[in-house]
Amino acid sequence: MNSCNVCQAETKNKCSNCNQVAYCSVQHQKQDWKSHKSNCHPFRVAHNELLGRHLVATRNIKPYEIVLKEAPLMRGPAQISVPVCMGCLNAIEPNDHITCDKCGWPLCGPECPTLDEHKAECQLTEARGQKVNVQEFNGPHPLYTCVSTVRCLLLNETNPANAEKFQQLESLEQTRRGSNQWKADLASIGQFIPKFFRTQKFSEEEIMRAVGALQINGHEVPTSDPPHVAVFYTASFTENSCVPNLAKSFTKNGHCILWAPKAIKKGANLSICYSDAVWGTADRQRHLMQTKLFKCSCERCVDVTELGTYYSALKCEDRKCTGLLLPIKADDWNGCWRCRECQKQVQRKYVDGILERAGKDIQSMEKTAENGFKYLKHYEKWLPPQHYHLSEVKILQVQLIAKDQKELMVLPDEQLQLKLKYAKELIELYEILAPCEVRMLGTLCFELHSAIAEHTRRVALQSNLSPKEMLEESLLYVEKCVNYLQYESDIFVEGHILKQAKINRDALRMVIRIS
Ligand SMILES: [Zn+2]
Ligand SMILES: [Zn+2]
Ligand SMILES: [Zn+2]
Ligand SMILES: [Zn+2]
Ligand SMILES: [Zn+2]
Ligand SMILES: [Zn+2]
Repeated sequence: MNSCNVCQAETKNKCSNCNQVAYCSVQHQKQDWKSHKSNCHPFRVAHNELLGRHLVATRNIKPYEIVLKEAPLMRGPAQISVPVCMGCLNAIEPNDHITCDKCGWPLCGPECPTLDEHKAECQLTEARGQKVNVQEFNGPHPLYTCVSTVRCLLLNETNPANAEKFQQLESLEQTRRGSNQWKADLASIGQFIPKFFRTQKFSEEEIMRAVGALQINGHEVPTSDPPHVAVFYTASFTENSCVPNLAKSFTKNGHCILWAPKAIKKGANLSICYSDAVWGTADRQRHLMQTKLFKCSCERCVDVTELGTYYSALKCEDRKCTGLLLPIKADDWNGCWRCRECQKQVQRKYVDGILERAGKDIQSMEKTAENGFKYLKHYEKWLPPQHYHLSEVKILQVQLIAKDQKELMVLPDEQLQLKLKYAKELIELYEILAPCEVRMLGTLCFELHSAIAEHTRRVALQSNLSPKEMLEESLLYVEKCVNYLQYESDIFVEGHILKQAKINRDALRMVIRIS
């Protein structure tokens, strides 16, 4: 038995959304909703030695359910940024912008200075007694490096409630102290702020703590161009996993949405990927260590085969052997690699040589379908079909082989089959490896549904076969696409794909009904 949140009477009924507070009656639940609303989530914040604060599901969560929607505590320019508008954070047009009357920071137009966020650096610059004067607009501008830190430091003046929450976030200042990144930050931010703004308001320690909290908790938010950085409070308690159970999307105004692409069981820890789930394990681990200062030991990271996909494996050096090369120890990607079939070991130099060449060749490749085919043919000799470099090029190929409906209608059959094959294989691969990369999966599902539809059209032209089954397959993938992209705003490409996918889905349903 629990006691009612309002009258303390004993009751069995709990709020069905969060499963955490009890009510004796619908009446008392309604009465309490205003104050309960902001705490009503299908998870609770838990704490233990290993994970620190983390989130645990308090009930079964259904597929596609939103678990958390949250406004940022603060947001600002990325640490390395071209000059951006201090209001909307979009890049400044060199020939079409204004500057703030009070401080001189560039803004795109008169509507932008009213945003609260700008107050921090605006007041600090005003107090400095000299406006800033930004003249260079091409490329990163050193002045912008400190802006987000300034916004964190002055949160207690611009938004005291958010400042209190920001104080609770992890900064890992002790671990960071003395590292190369920390030293660079000290020069470009820690020592820069007092000197540039001519202020003794913040101690070096305070500034470096804010820098750390920003780096550890900052999310890249793509709602501006270039993307900006934002810190979210509750979302920051989700733990990292390279096969997470939550996907992250953003609303038009930069609020974050964490949602479940697959069902989540009551009691499970909620996770997002702090790195890029499309990268191989060695790259993800390096990135996590550099930016978030920890070594990931999720189920994907402790398994060299990456859940049986051999996503980072190389083919055996011995051409007659069909085995695959992988590190001998799962926690040492920089150590020795060995063929899992013939047991032959290879030197690091061999592994690094192939991976570096394959990576550089993708970067420098002019992105055409023809070049993609050449690349795949060449690197197949060293890399197994699901390797991350080959997969990256196959993702490109799915988009490059027939870029639109017109091209698709005249595409040679052989290439249509390849588009189908790549899209299908990639969806299968990433649903195992990166189930929360919803934008990529949604886009692949869209491409696949249209390739299937085109294939169906061709089959129907040539025979009397009823293509109903194939139409149903096309519908299946366009429905998947809508599910994956349902929270994407129409300011993103994916939001536009979503719109088209809904139109195609409805049309397909109609065709299937009458066929
Ligand atoms: Zn009651
Ligand atoms: Zn509730
Ligand atoms: Zn603006
Ligand atoms: Zn200003
Ligand atoms: Zn991991
Ligand atoms: Zn071998």
